Amino acid sequence: MANHPLRIVIAGGGTAGWMAAATFARFLETGYEIDLIESDDIGTVGVGEATIPQIHLFNDALGLDEDAFLRATGGTFKLGIEFVDWFKPGHRYMHAFGDVGRDVGLLPFHQYWLRARSLGLAGDLGAYSLNTHAALAERMQRGPARTARTLPSMPYAYHFDAGLYARYLRRYSETRGVNRIEGKIVRVTRDGDSGDVSGLVLENGTTVAADLYIDCTGFRGLLIEEALGTGYEDWTHWLPCDRAIAVPSARSEKFTPYTRSTAHAAGWQWRIPLQHRTGNGVVFSSAHMSEDEATATLLAGLDTPAKADPRTIAFRTGRRKRMWNRNVVALGLAAGFMEPLESTSIHLIQSAIARLLKLLPGRVIAEADRTEFNRQSDFEYERIRDFIILHYKATARDDTPFWRQCRDMAAPDTLAAKIDLWRGNGHIVREHEELFTEVGWLQVLAGQGIMPAGHHPLADAISTSDLGEFMDTIDKLNAREAGQMQDHAAFVAQHCAA
Ligand code: FAD
Repeated sequence: MANHPLRIVIAGGGTAGWMAAATFARFLETGYEIDLIESDDIGTVGVGEATIPQIHLFNDALGLDEDAFLRATGGTFKLGIEFVDWFKPGHRYMHAFGDVGRDVGLLPFHQYWLRARSLGLAGDLGAYSLNTHAALAERMQRGPARTARTLPSMPYAYHFDAGLYARYLRRYSETRGVNRIEGKIVRVTRDGDSGDVSGLVLENGTTVAADLYIDCTGFRGLLIEEALGTGYEDWTHWLPCDRAIAVPSARSEKFTPYTRSTAHAAGWQWRIPLQHRTGNGVVFSSAHMSEDEATATLLAGLDTPAKADPRTIAFRTGRRKRMWNRNVVALGLAAGFMEPLESTSIHLIQSAIARLLKLLPGRVIAEADRTEFNRQSDFEYERIRDFIILHYKATARDDTPFWRQCRDMAAPDTLAAKIDLWRGNGHIVREHEELFTEVGWLQVLAGQGIMPAGHHPLADAISTSDLGEFMDTIDKLNAREAGQMQDHAAFVAQHCAA
């Protein structure tokens, strides 16, 4: 008995299910049997198109060829996110991946920028980011910048069709031995003594049993919530949006290598260019905007004709009280949900999978492993939550009740402390497990119009003329470098056309 392979059953075959299956297929080649149950009748959430650069770690770990993956998923490149009308109507800024400026000695670049800004010697932060220059010029390049000694390399992520990505990973997983079971789970059975999940009963009467269950059944959380009653921590008092309406439109001439997020009266709208279409959607608070109004806002914001009827998705922002409960680990929407403002959901799936692999149980699950998994997951979720709240909280908008509510709400203590630290002398501290870097926080804090009262005194050590020249040189080098890159559309056509 002790020698039988450990069985892992993945319930659900959306992005989360197939990402888990592919990773297990790759790293648990011996000693494990992996099943995945999904129901074509139920389908997947069918959205989720923008990512962050950490996706490279996942794809590289699986050994995926970048161009083949982009071809299979209609993918494009993403250098950052442009936020339009968030701070106030008519204002825009970029949260670009990669460095901003060059750190000098002990000080991060932004301390010099703050001083230069106060002297009228510096422009907006975007001028000092290579990714922002390249994004706005719609350029793309892989590998280190040509002037790598003076400029950093250019990190990027992707936009892709998440449905096609799941299909791609399904082929990968099935080729490597994952057993896909088509069927609807109608009942979850539990062991009378331990209370653990003991089997998943399918509509055809079969029971699938395992040592470890991965709940990837989407928002409902069939195992983690409906069977185990784990509980959900609701964050809608901080993030009041609770609906999305998505619609694909034709491919746009404006083939931007960045996601655009445009704030509207009660939420925001995304625009994501793919090779075969543009992904669009509105996220809104149903307490402040009707579905008809939201649909009208969405359609008015399209730059190409819609290719299907708009589809509404209801959600509740928050997270499961324990993402690993008993012998069930929840991934993806079953674990929690935060709106896709910073494209973090697919990342949260990949980091949870990595965490699970590190703490992978044998035949017996140690309580300490579960506790550690949940501690790390909670921390990761909370810091991302804070970052998303910042976009709403730090706004000068007071044109609608929605924005007044967001502006006036009490921020979580952890976020309030971050804002206070920045407001004083421009300090940003990142605790080591936080996803977003100092430079990410910097761009959103400054982009949302919060400027510190002072700067680090060491930034005064440089003469005013040297400071002005330093700023100017970085801006010019970035512009020159971006100007030499290939046009994004041409780059995609050459390397990875679907
Ligand atoms: P789902 O896609 O819902 O899959 C659930 C699976 O469970 C399906 O296969 C279904 O058939 C199966 N299932 C359910 N019940 C049963 C049953 N009883 N029996 C058998 N099978 C069952 N993420 C990003 O990273 N970037 C984005 O830009 C982004 N945009 C988003 C926009 C919106 C509006 C929303 C709602 C989400 C977005 N996401 C984004 C999140 C992303 O879509 C999800 O994280 C991702 O798709 C994972 O979904 P999932 O696999 O957990 O769930």
